[in-house]
Parts: sequence; C-alpha cells; structure tokens
Amino acid sequence: MFWRSPLDRNRLQIPFGVVQVIDERCKGCGICVEFCPKHLLVISEHTNSKGYHPPKIIEDQDCVNCGLCALLCPDFAIYVEDGGKRTPDKVISIRGSGNKPWKSPEDC
Ligand code: SF4
Ligand code: SF4
Repeated sequence: MFWRSPLDRNRLQIPFGVVQVIDERCKGCGICVEFCPKHLLVISEHTNSKGYHPPKIIEDQDCVNCGLCALLCPDFAIYVEDGGKRTPDKVISIRGSGNKPWKSPEDC
C-alpha cells in the first residue's frame, strides 16, 4: 500500500503498441518471444503453411511499443503499430521479491 503517490500521476502517459504478426513469413525461431522485455509473446499452437509456429501476444493491453520484437526478427515477420498513449492503470513497485526491503538509517 502506497502512502503517497506522485502528484502528476494522472498526467503520466505510456506508449501503447498493437503487435501484428505476418504468419507466413515466420519461421518460429522464438527470438521475439525470448527478448520481449514485457514477456508478452508466446509460440502459438497453430502452424503456417511451412509448418512453423508463429508467435502470439498474450496480454495485448501491455505492449509498450518498444519495437524490440520487430527489430530482432530476422524475417520481418512481426511489426508494431503505434496505438497512441494511455494513462497507466496500475503502479508497479520497484521493490522486487529479490530485493531487500528499504530501511531507514534509524533502523540500522
Ligand atoms: S513492442 Fe516491445 S513490449 Fe511490445 S511485444 Fe514487441 S518487444 Fe514486447
Ligand atoms: S522473431 Fe520473427 S521469425 Fe522468429 S518467431 Fe518471432 S516473428 Fe517468427
């Protein structure tokens, strides 16, 4: 629970991307799946005409339009359309489970 939040939180905007996959170009190498920083892509169950499994997006509301999947794809089989910007609906703590909880100097 946050006891305070930034005063401009409602004005913050994050980019939003719409991922498009050209199934017939894909060779199912999985590079885009491996390197998406948001872990939004998975290899799909269906196959294209060459027998490869193209990727699909699992959380299409969370793509931040970084373009890394399109940049790394060796076959130009995936690209991202600009979906504009939106206000984030959630705030993620930077204190991951592996980090030690913050302590004030008085606690030491
Ligand atoms: S644009 Fe970035 S966040 Fe969106 S699917 Fe591609 S790699 Fe992931
Ligand atoms: S990087 Fe390109 S070719 Fe490889 S799985 Fe992703 S879309 Fe298909």
